[in-house]
Amino acid sequence: MWFTDHMLFHYHRCRRRVYLDSYGDTTLKDPPSDYFVKLREDSAEHRQAILAPFAPLHQPIYEKYDWEAGAIATYQMMQAGVETIYRGILITEGPSNVRYRTEPDILVKQPGESWLGDWYYVPYNVKLGKKPKPEYQLVAAFNAYILAEVQGVWPETAWLFLKEKQCAVNLERYVPKLQEALDDCLDINDGVLTNSEPPEVFISRSRCDMCPWLGYCYSEAKAQNHLSLLPGVTKKRYPDLVEIGITTVEALAKAQPTQLAYLLAVEQRVTEKMIFQAQANWTGSAVPLLRGSTSARNNNTFPLTLDHVPTTDIELYFDIEAAPDKDLIYLHGVLVVNNQTGSETFHALVAETPDQEETAWFEFLALVNSYPHAPIYHFCPYEAQTVRRLADLYGNGGVNIDYLLGRFVDIHKRVVDAVALPVESYALKHLARWMGFEWRDEDANGAQSICWYGDWLRTGDRTYLNTILRYNEDDCQATYRVKDWLVNFAQPFWQSESL
Ligand code: SF4
Repeated sequence: MWFTDHMLFHYHRCRRRVYLDSYGDTTLKDPPSDYFVKLREDSAEHRQAILAPFAPLHQPIYEKYDWEAGAIATYQMMQAGVETIYRGILITEGPSNVRYRTEPDILVKQPGESWLGDWYYVPYNVKLGKKPKPEYQLVAAFNAYILAEVQGVWPETAWLFLKEKQCAVNLERYVPKLQEALDDCLDINDGVLTNSEPPEVFISRSRCDMCPWLGYCYSEAKAQNHLSLLPGVTKKRYPDLVEIGITTVEALAKAQPTQLAYLLAVEQRVTEKMIFQAQANWTGSAVPLLRGSTSARNNNTFPLTLDHVPTTDIELYFDIEAAPDKDLIYLHGVLVVNNQTGSETFHALVAETPDQEETAWFEFLALVNSYPHAPIYHFCPYEAQTVRRLADLYGNGGVNIDYLLGRFVDIHKRVVDAVALPVESYALKHLARWMGFEWRDEDANGAQSICWYGDWLRTGDRTYLNTILRYNEDDCQATYRVKDWLVNFAQPFWQSESL
């Protein structure tokens, strides 16, 4: 059996993934999304640009999938002492019938003693990420380990070329982690890959979103009503819950917060929130997060006041679209709601080409400044952070940015502070859909809009741009819907408090 650099990479993100990649029914995998394809293309482009200065690159020639032949061709190049080897194949023996295989982006020749002569090689991998993520470093350590087995000497380090910098991997730190990972995967009695069943499913949006097994894993989690579908139950906290016998949403909904806090060794406010969340999902209805509602029942207070979600004659709903690959903000969408006339007007301040980012920024400032007292609702901190950044970059156009940001209201924060909802995530899509809102384009999302903007720049086809504008307007409308829902939900609490 092969154990490869790709398997190690995915193992670090999810133990179940490495099992499914090895033994799962591939017909159950999701097709790659446009965004995934784009990332793969961007990554290949980035690799080409980074490796250009190393030309000429020598690449071993072998029949596709004939790894043995690839390893022999690579070793012959190493023996010949070529300066740089592109995508060489390195193989060594692992435990029992396992063989380790890796494919570093390049191997670069260095002076020094080895089995090859008075030179040896150092491995480099190219990654599109900005930071040296642990999985990158683990794979780099794997490269160094197999290379040491092949050439008879350890490279002093393994290198990562990242988006903006080059980074040396600390092998003293990562080789022991590598050993742990290999043991966990390959242990003859209880390794991930030697077991007959995959590791338990655990849906974590940040980790699973780009995984081709998401559809399959999600339906399994759904069928089990798995606790990982409950916001707040993290991968770290889940084993502790299982250990004390809480394995279902119902059990968590009925738990006692003081006792649970004691058993989990966390603050009571944490367990209160988890229990409220479980109650919301179990009953299918919204649960207010009343302060002291479980510990001091006579002292219930609703955490939001009218000032937290101001309702005024004019309200603005704001959403940005960005292209992180181009370091670009290409759309400021603003929905102007006039509560007196009942009118709603959407403004799309768009950079049709990347060099129009600055113009779109000043158009945005002019628009929001023309409603100097209107609250500006947005979802999550990104909009506020971006406004601050663009002001630093291009200037404030005479607008007081501190005052402007003082008008911003993060409706996501208001919701999570005030209420537990029967949703799997507090992302805008999940919240607004639960409240009955639907996007006109069912498949639209932030990642897809990045692809559409790229398509618009490449083809000039306005359909792409118009689809983005429609999606952005719907995001603003959804934010408006969430705000409206929250105000309606809060009304009875405000009325009872004012009595
Ligand atoms: S969807 Fe999530 S749980 Fe399933 S294999 Fe992928 S990362 Fe792991």
